[in-house]
Amino acid sequence: MVSLVPNPIYPLKKCDLVLAKNQGDLQRIMHQLTMDILHGRFELAHRAGWWFDSSPLDGKGDDDPDIEWMDATKRHDQRLRNMDRYRLRTPTKNPNGPTVFKLISTEGNEHSPNGATSCSFAMTLELTLEDDERYREGGLHYVGCATGGYFVQMMLNYRSYGTILPFTPNCHCGTTTIPPKWAALAAKWDSIIRRALADEYDIQCMFADVPLKCHTAGRGCPFKHDIPAKKK
Ligand SMILES: [Zn+2]
Ligand SMILES: [Zn+2]
Repeated sequence: MVSLVPNPIYPLKKCDLVLAKNQGDLQRIMHQLTMDILHGRFELAHRAGWWFDSSPLDGKGDDDPDIEWMDATKRHDQRLRNMDRYRLRTPTKNPNGPTVFKLISTEGNEHSPNGATSCSFAMTLELTLEDDERYREGGLHYVGCATGGYFVQMMLNYRSYGTILPFTPNCHCGTTTIPPKWAALAAKWDSIIRRALADEYDIQCMFADVPLKCHTAGRGCPFKHDIPAKKK
């Protein structure tokens, strides 16, 4: 377990007040959206039509009577079908418009007849979360909003299996033990989720580790600005 300490660069000596206000406003919305998904306050609707087509639901508002919402917040909900497309509705409106995603959080039965496993999802998350610096230090708010489709699926898995990446050996890939990279990825994000579920402010600030830096740290930003402690 890595121990964390507050980053000594904060509070910044020079603070941009306009930037600080914009950061605060943006992070507040992203936090609410993230909390909605984290706590299962969301509904899903089948997005009809082929993936390459537009759907009859596209362009319709969340409250349109043509959209049938389901309170499916766990992956093992029988109404959810692998590889189908879904639209997400949360009480907090996403300023970027509705989130639509393809359900890949676990493999189908033909791939893993012995139990839930998440080979493709693990590979996808590995690429998304490890290669983008915003996610490296635990930018849960980025995951919650910028890649809401992945975060919903991480939570569907977490709420069903207690981990974002369930693994059952001897799936179609023939893997007998969970690859160490996936185990590390799952451990890291399971812990970030566990902390955020216990305390909504125990989340790394989304600006703490980006080049722009957080301009409200020490001046009202309620989130964490931590770095790993140096080994003694
Ligand atoms: Zn597999
Ligand atoms: Zn901050």
